[in-house]
Amino acid sequence: MNAITPLEDAAAAGATGASIVNGLSVDVEDWFQVGAFESVIERDDWPSLVDRVERNMHAILDMFDEAGVSATFFALGWVAERHGGMMREIVNRGHELASHGWDHGRVFRMDRASFGADIERARKVLEDTSGSRVRGYRAPSFSIDVRTPWAFQELAEQGYTYSSSVAPVAHDHYGWAEAPRFAFRPLPWSDLIEIPVTTAMFAGRRLAAGGGGFFRVIPYAFSRWAIRQVNRHEGRPAVFYFHPWEIDPGQPRVAGAPLKSRLRHYTNLDRMSGKLRQLVGEFAWGRMDLLAHREAARLDAETVA
Ligand SMILES: [Zn+2]
Repeated sequence: MNAITPLEDAAAAGATGASIVNGLSVDVEDWFQVGAFESVIERDDWPSLVDRVERNMHAILDMFDEAGVSATFFALGWVAERHGGMMREIVNRGHELASHGWDHGRVFRMDRASFGADIERARKVLEDTSGSRVRGYRAPSFSIDVRTPWAFQELAEQGYTYSSSVAPVAHDHYGWAEAPRFAFRPLPWSDLIEIPVTTAMFAGRRLAAGGGGFFRVIPYAFSRWAIRQVNRHEGRPAVFYFHPWEIDPGQPRVAGAPLKSRLRHYTNLDRMSGKLRQLVGEFAWGRMDLLAHREAARLDAETVA
């Protein structure tokens, strides 16, 4: 796997903007750690549940190798502690390893001190297991919003370069509908960049278009339209995410979860790998740290101009 420098990556993106390199990301968590099931799966039961993340991660890493793309893996500290070899493999295969917090606690349910402790604990395990620096963070369930004005301050003070933790859209579980749709600097005193997950504008409304259940449930043509819209008409990179459990039709079924959660979680798991291959083949993708680097340069240029 070739090491790609930010400069080469920027050159590949084309100074003319002919082809935009989008951000590809995977939130590394297992089937029992998703927010939608937290009312029926006890946190204390996690260690006894069947582990599927390792096999699913290998399938994803192989898919990315075949397609020749590199990506960012936002991993839970809880997963890293149990799969240190996998953390090393992510880095050895040319990807970025970044943080998804310790055990998927939502940021808006913490205070600043507990959030600081959560990301510090996760980062230490991620760095110790992988031997690589962690510079990026994604909040579980995009849970940085108006309720957490201290979150960006804490990330900046702990030395993070970027965050991709905001869903600038109204959604039943998450969302900060008033947030900017593209990369911004949330703090006047820091270079920290927030790169929100992608939305597309349709009839004056913001639509979630950056992955998750939407990508699995809605026909591929919508995602293609949305990313083209963002790349070609708005001239901006898209940010896409998915989870290892989304390519796993063989995962255990959770009984007793709300119907809406079950529908959202289990629909089209068998079609996900094919859809992802199409998506990865049809657009240009790269790591989030390199995307953050390019977006920082763009924001700097805008400030000067
Ligand atoms: Zn997550």
